[in-house]
Formats: sequence, C-alpha cells, structure tokens
Amino acid sequence: MIATQADALLRSRLEALENAGSTGTKVIGYFPGGYVPEELIYASGAIPLCLSHGGEARTADEALSIVPSVICSFARAQVGEMLLKTNPFYSALDLVVVPSTCQHMKKIGDIWEYYEGPQVFKLGVPYEHDKEFELEYFRDRLLALKQRLEALTGNEITDEKLTEAIEVYNRLRALLKELSLTRRASPPPISSLDFVKLNHASLYADPVAVADALEAVLQDLRGAGASPGGAAAGAGSPGTKRPRVLLTGPNLAFGDYDVLRMAEDAGADVVVEEVFEGVRDYWQSVDAAGDPLDALAKGYLIDKRPAAFMRGSLRKRLDFLLTLSRDFHVSGAIWYQLLCCEFYDEEGAFIEKALRDRGIPVLIVESDYHSLESGQLRTRLDAFVETLAGGPVDA
Ligand code: SF4
Repeated sequence: MIATQADALLRSRLEALENAGSTGTKVIGYFPGGYVPEELIYASGAIPLCLSHGGEARTADEALSIVPSVICSFARAQVGEMLLKTNPFYSALDLVVVPSTCQHMKKIGDIWEYYEGPQVFKLGVPYEHDKEFELEYFRDRLLALKQRLEALTGNEITDEKLTEAIEVYNRLRALLKELSLTRRASPPPISSLDFVKLNHASLYADPVAVADALEAVLQDLRGAGASPGGAAAGAGSPGTKRPRVLLTGPNLAFGDYDVLRMAEDAGADVVVEEVFEGVRDYWQSVDAAGDPLDALAKGYLIDKRPAAFMRGSLRKRLDFLLTLSRDFHVSGAIWYQLLCCEFYDEEGAFIEKALRDRGIPVLIVESDYHSLESGQLRTRLDAFVETLAGGPVDA
C-alpha cells in the first residue's frame, strides 16, 4: 500500500518532467549528502531532483569505462546513469549541482562537466561546520547558486519565495520525522522498506504532494491505533521476538534495498536509518526567521549532523547515534557502507568499537552493488540477529 503511494508520487513527477520542456520549466538535479538546499531550486520555479539512484551493479559498472574501481559504486552509478541515459530522472536535467563533499563526489562533478558541457554548478562546502568564517563562505556559495538559478530560470528568487520554500520543506521534514518516530513503537507500525520507499520518493517527487501523502499515511496509522508521536517501545521489542536494529553508514541509495530485505528476512526490524538519504536529511527544520539565505546556510551547515568529511565530526556523530539507539530502543546496529568509501571506512572501526563498548553490537556490511545475496552475508546476518535475540553467541 505504502509502496504503491510512493510509486504514484514518482509517476506523477515523471509526468511533470515530460511536460517541463513545453512549459519552459527547468529541471535541476543535485547529488545527496545534505548540503544542497532544495529550497533554492524550488523557489526558482525549477523542478528539483535529488539524484540518488544506486544499488544496481550494471549501472555502476558502466562507469568503469571512464573511472577506476576505486571510485565508490554510488559515485560510479551517477556516472553510469549519465552515460546510459535510460533513467528519465537523469535525462531531463538542465543543470546539476555538485557539492564539494567527498573526493568521489568532486570527481564525478568533473566528469559530468567534461561530458555534459557547462551544465554543472559546483557548490563549495567548507570542511568545518561550526566556525563563523566557514558559515560566511557557505552563505556566499549559496548566494552564487541562487544567482546561477535565477539566470537559468529567468525567475528572481525573492526573500518571500525563499521563505515560502523553507516552510514547504519544513513541513515535509517534520512529517518524515513524525512518521519515523512512530517506529519507536513495538512492533513498528510500518516496515523499514515501506518507510525508506516513501522517504526516497521525497527525494524526487513534488514536496507538497509527498507531504500530503505522509499526512494520509499518518492518519491511517492513527486509525489503526498507532501512536504517531511514537509510543515508547520496551527494550527488545516486547510483543515480538524480533530484535530492533539501527542502520547507519554513509549512504542508502534509491533502489539499494538488499540489506534491508535481508535484515528483515533474518528476523530483525530495522527501525531507523542514519544515512544521507534518511535521518540526516529530515531530522532538523530550518529556522525561517530573518534573512532566508542566512537561515539556509545555518540550517544546512551548522544545525545538521556533520558528515564524516567535516573536521571534528566524530564525537557529534557518535553522540547522535547513541541518542537514536536509545530513543529507538535498538539492541544492535548494522554499519552499511560501500567499498572504497574512505571517510566512512576510517570511521567504521571506531564507531563499531564505541557502540560495542556501550553494549550495542555492530555488524559491518560492505557492498559494491553486486548482489549481497550471493556472498556470506546471509549467514552472518542470521548469526547476528540470533545473537541479538539472545541466541548462541558463537553461532
Ligand atoms: S558512499 Fe562514500 S565515497 Fe561514495 S559518495 Fe558517499 S561519502 Fe563519497
């Protein structure tokens, strides 16, 4: 049912893309990571798309003709989509905004620019998230993006339009968070896969339509007796024997769902996803008071959880994981990362130890988008979930 709603939202967006040429509406993509304010694109009258497809080995491997395999499979998938030109979300673009986050993301910006001409805007993102001069730099880069969008669309982005856009996205973020919080209940009223599909639909679909759909889902859950505020679950999920698990790591792409399916099949409930295309995008609102560009710079750089490439991010990221673990009553965590993702590789071992020291076992899962099913993962997941459920530790 929820998956059908997500599909309908995406179909409707595809229709809008088909009509964009005849109405003169520009289509602007950007890569995920949490540093491109969609509000700016929305306020320019263009259609924003968060380019986040992944999970298919064939698409990622297509890029191997021009980039080496040390580029992570998510970044390669973005190049693969550009080369294949079979994905309508990637074929409709007038401009792509590439944030300067990790080295892989920067490199694919260069490659898109080389192959697609001047249709790339590189958004500078500082490497610190809590200093005044970094905030000034980021605001300046957002101003440059605003000017580029105005030139491309021919529409002025007024303060009023930008404030209105912030309110549209604040509503979307708040509803995603509210739905996410219902999963603190035991058993969670919606599955991880259903939640993630709706969450991922919001990366492409019209934000007002997604917010309306989320309100309808929350209404249905209330009717079914769920507590939208997220009734507290007891530790260990009373009422079910299924262990509750947090999924964390850099990225869970649109379509990269094997790890969720396999965790579910192994008998666990993934109840929260701390990834770029998850909690990190919707957990905070942007304070719409005052100058809207100031508000976006602060909201996206300072108020969000810092990504791993930021200096001094580790403690904050660990504290946030511990808070989520406590609030969602998890008994274990899955650290899901892509091969060759150095920033998160460097962090993974530390996070595993820090969580384990606090009684939260962690299973590290690495993927290069070749089927996880064909490896040892099923056995490892079964043993991990059995351990969380109180089974034999040596399983
Ligand atoms: S998965 Fe890692 S290496 Fe790949 S784009 Fe994301 S942060 Fe960069």
